[in-house]
Amino acid sequence: MSFKDSYFRILNENGLVCFATEQLADRFAELTERLIAFNSHVNLTAITDPEQIILRHYADCLAVANAFPQGASVLDVGCGGGFPSLPLAIARPDLTITGLDSTAKKLVFVENTAKEMSLSLSTVAGRAEELAHGKKRESYDVVTARAVAALNVLCEWCLPFVKLGGCMIAMKGSGGKEELLAAKNAISVLGGGDAEVTEYALSDMGRTLVKIPKIRSTPSQYPRPNGKIMKKPL
Ligand code: SAM
Repeated sequence: MSFKDSYFRILNENGLVCFATEQLADRFAELTERLIAFNSHVNLTAITDPEQIILRHYADCLAVANAFPQGASVLDVGCGGGFPSLPLAIARPDLTITGLDSTAKKLVFVENTAKEMSLSLSTVAGRAEELAHGKKRESYDVVTARAVAALNVLCEWCLPFVKLGGCMIAMKGSGGKEELLAAKNAISVLGGGDAEVTEYALSDMGRTLVKIPKIRSTPSQYPRPNGKIMKKPL
């Protein structure tokens, strides 16, 4: 089966018909070629079969793409090889996206791909808990993350970057609700409000979208140094 046939089938099977267009299929085919080529010398992903890439990377990210407000500035914390930032930038050109990761060599792929595919996506190398004390504190409409850390830790890395009135969007697996229970205190301390939880299935995988509004400014002592966050999560 060709890449495009697989792309249309997987998106249609997962209720993502609005992204099943010829134009997006071509863009994702190009991204796949670039990802597989770069992945042969820098480890970006363990998933290398195109059908699995479509399902586990592209469809997974496209399933949350419409949760982002029109024209939002978005920070993707721990973007790694560009997930969700690359699929979001392809499917939602109205967004202005920044991918942040502590591993600079992965960002070379994200930065080069964004330039060569003319995407509204740039990158920043560094640790979230350090950069959140800098000039980008409380400056993004949305801060998102996928497969980076447990929600209580993730909130301390992400919520300080969210502007008042904005939100954090965490892409979680089937245990998202339990993670949210464990993160209640962190959310309250860091200035978050009541979370909106959406559970859904992607093929046979349970997924959870956790959207946390930013209702108060984050106290200046957060995020704490990484050792403290890990040793004593909020
Ligand atoms: N989000 C991508 C995805 O879904 O494929 C990558 C997930 S990967 C498992 C986790 C990434 O988070 C790694 O690339 C790692 O370098 C990055 N990371 C972990 N802790 C971080 C921190 N404190 N600040 C910035 N990046 C971090």
